Amino acid sequence: MNTCFPTEINHAKAKGTIRITWNDGHVGEYEQEYLRGYCPCALCQGHGAQTRFISVPGAALEEIRGVGNYAVEFRWRDGHSTGIYTYDYLRSLCPCAECAVRRADRP
Ligand SMILES: [Zn+2]
Ligand SMILES: [Zn+2]
Repeated sequence: MNTCFPTEINHAKAKGTIRITWNDGHVGEYEQEYLRGYCPCALCQGHGAQTRFISVPGAALEEIRGVGNYAVEFRWRDGHSTGIYTYDYLRSLCPCAECAVRRADRP
């Protein structure tokens, strides 16, 4: 069971950001290059335990699709679309100051 899920995903194409509003009222604004860099697919992440950031300069989001009721799939301009971003994962990537502080608190 997901405890958090997006109620709204807003892609500001001109700005290059994806704004996600969560069911608990939290709002996160993600740069598209940031989201692309944290693509969770095996191709991007390999088999390491740590989440890797892959720099893809000029990454642009083309399409957002829901996957079941637990994740979203992003299709990028370079054709890459194998990353399934679960809601929990997306929330854990939230770049806002509040979440950054919470992450820094983790051991
Ligand atoms: Zn990937
Ligand atoms: Zn946040």
